[in-house]
Amino acid sequence: MFCNSYLDYFSLFLSEHNVPVMDIWDKKKRSEIMSKIRSKDTKPELILRKALFARGFRYRVNDKRLPGKPDIVLLKYKTIIFLHGCFWHRHEGCKYAYTPKTNTKFWIDKITSNTERDKRNLRKLTILGWSVLTVWECEIRHKYKHDITPLVDKISVAIQNNLPHKIALRFYGEKENEIILVAEDVVEYRENPK
Ligand SMILES: [Zn+2]
Repeated sequence: MFCNSYLDYFSLFLSEHNVPVMDIWDKKKRSEIMSKIRSKDTKPELILRKALFARGFRYRVNDKRLPGKPDIVLLKYKTIIFLHGCFWHRHEGCKYAYTPKTNTKFWIDKITSNTERDKRNLRKLTILGWSVLTVWECEIRHKYKHDITPLVDKISVAIQNNLPHKIALRFYGEKENEIILVAEDVVEYRENPK
């Protein structure tokens, strides 16, 4: 896996290992790195997107027009999928949702504000008529690491159960959501370092 810069690479490493070790940096550097981590197409997101794409779902990614800039937006199904990092969004009962022993107050405040924002976004999206699914990173990194099929099955059932009318399987070959850039996303991870 190659990225354009050392910072990219390091951010990716941190995000891949769920390691919030940014305590060692000053505030400016830390917030720079945190925003890098959040905004990058992290690997679990690519895995999930590719699996959904292979299952015939077409979607937009990181749609800025919607509250919370959802990771995956399935227009046809009026369904949104958030892929949440267990640490950043405090996955209840998950071992990756721990509280760091240094700068503890900073992390508690940060993560509490994340989860409060998540709740606000969920409310707004629900009012707008969207069904919202949350997938946790530990499911992709660990639980379904070797075979994502059961997870995609679950998601697929959830998506299709939200349908007001059963129009499942008609989405193959349709053009309306061709915005999805699966190929480009994969390429990004194969770039040679400059
Ligand atoms: Zn988790």
